[in-house]
Amino acid sequence: MSHDEALFHVWLESVRDFAIFMVAPDGAVSSWNVGAERILGYREDEILGQSYSLIFTPEDQADGVPAQEMQEARTAEHGWDDRWLVRKDGSRFWASGLLTPVWAEDGTLRSFVKVLRDNTERKLLEDELRRRAEELMEADRRKNEFLAMLSHELRNPLAPILNSLYVLRQSGGDDPVVVQSRSMIERQVAHLKQLVDDLIDVARVTSGKVQLRKERMKLGDVVSRAVEDVAPKVAERQHTLTTEAAPVPLWLEADPTRLEQVFTNLLSNAAKYTEPGGQIRLNIRRVNDEAEVRVRDNGIGIDPALLPRIFDLFTQADHSLDRTQGGLGIGLTLTRTLIEMHGGTIVAVSAGLGQGSEFVVRLPLASEAASGEAPGGGGAPAGNVPRPRRVLIVDDNVDAARSLSVLLRRAGHETQAAHDGQAAIEAVEAFRPDVILLDIGLPGMDGYDVAHSLKGRTSAFLAAVSGYAPKEDDREAVFDRYLVKPVDPDAILGLLAESGDEAAR
Ligand code: ADP
Repeated sequence: MSHDEALFHVWLESVRDFAIFMVAPDGAVSSWNVGAERILGYREDEILGQSYSLIFTPEDQADGVPAQEMQEARTAEHGWDDRWLVRKDGSRFWASGLLTPVWAEDGTLRSFVKVLRDNTERKLLEDELRRRAEELMEADRRKNEFLAMLSHELRNPLAPILNSLYVLRQSGGDDPVVVQSRSMIERQVAHLKQLVDDLIDVARVTSGKVQLRKERMKLGDVVSRAVEDVAPKVAERQHTLTTEAAPVPLWLEADPTRLEQVFTNLLSNAAKYTEPGGQIRLNIRRVNDEAEVRVRDNGIGIDPALLPRIFDLFTQADHSLDRTQGGLGIGLTLTRTLIEMHGGTIVAVSAGLGQGSEFVVRLPLASEAASGEAPGGGGAPAGNVPRPRRVLIVDDNVDAARSLSVLLRRAGHETQAAHDGQAAIEAVEAFRPDVILLDIGLPGMDGYDVAHSLKGRTSAFLAAVSGYAPKEDDREAVFDRYLVKPVDPDAILGLLAESGDEAAR
């Protein structure tokens, strides 16, 4: 042994943090350092000459891992290997190790060197972190499921309430107490409906269940509609809303309903989070290939600490602040997701509390090639007094069916209700409806089953009314129309008028 080799040997012997030992080609341990004794528990004189498979778990021994490891070390570049090993006292530890062959000058295998260290603590920590991450994901999944279910359950009672309110409004009555209470209920129910709609929407949009219905459209039109939507709120809080539009129309390939929702959200936030008498400015311009919309207010502003999280679900500024304007903290999440689905971006800017806020939306412009007026348009439903229709209402919620029935009768239509699929089919024979409003979620035979068995038996206009969005392929296949609950009474009356027109054709 040279002097250097001897020194190296001394050093090797003294390394405590690593187990370093040699294994003969037949697997017998041929040297053993202090670190190996410390980590594995065997003294050198106990283990020399023994098979190194001793330190493997019985499972790995049975699987032939020690021999495999030697074979791999011999034939290939062998990387670090992490596995459970067993100490002399039987306890296990997580070892990170490396087995390397040592070749003699004539190319024969002299022995292997094994280097390993105890990484149990890190391994346990990693396992714990992974377990917690999985738990969090599971909790998040259950929360999303709960939200989706909660929002649907909340929506069910809303339909009959909305219908009955509509009837109450139609039936006049001018006792000021009644009028006042009625309009209070109307406002509160409208608010409730908005919250529920947002909840349902955010669950569907963020889980990717929503598809955009894109068309060629002018950005200005959508923004104008959003401005109209929020006009009452802006007036109520005595804000001034000024709009500055681009000199030429900006065309987008986008879903107009969803974009209207985006700008309505931003404008109504501006109105909400600005003290009465504030200034809201809306600015539309073209920046290269994008349309830019800025919504700025001089309101309460946003704390710089909140700014990076402002688009996250359920993020809201300090809850102790005045919550009379409050929502659920989902509007901005929805807004950003919808914008991103359009290939756009949104950023929030605020110099801090009390300094106002600005939201900057960028959306890609439609390609120039197809510029020009959008096709279609026209075809607005005629405003004449509708023909009376015979309407079959199929809904297992008796209140919902009854209230809708009252509403339609007052508008001059004839109605009949059925509360399950079988009754519906019988009623079709007996009542011969022009229009069938069919709830999908019926007990037993569901709306789809009913629709299928009615095929060919009636020429009635068949509208699905459901708490759930349609399965894409079913939508047009079995129904003439698909309405999502709670359906606006005006939408149903409009549909009846339309179905009359169709029948007249
Ligand atoms: P919500 O309005 O229902 O709370 P949003 O997701 O629309 O939910 O907004 C999240 C939070 O962002 C709000 O609670 C509010 O604290 C803050 N915020 C949104 N818009 C503005 C604004 N224009 N000015 C100041 N704060 C805002």
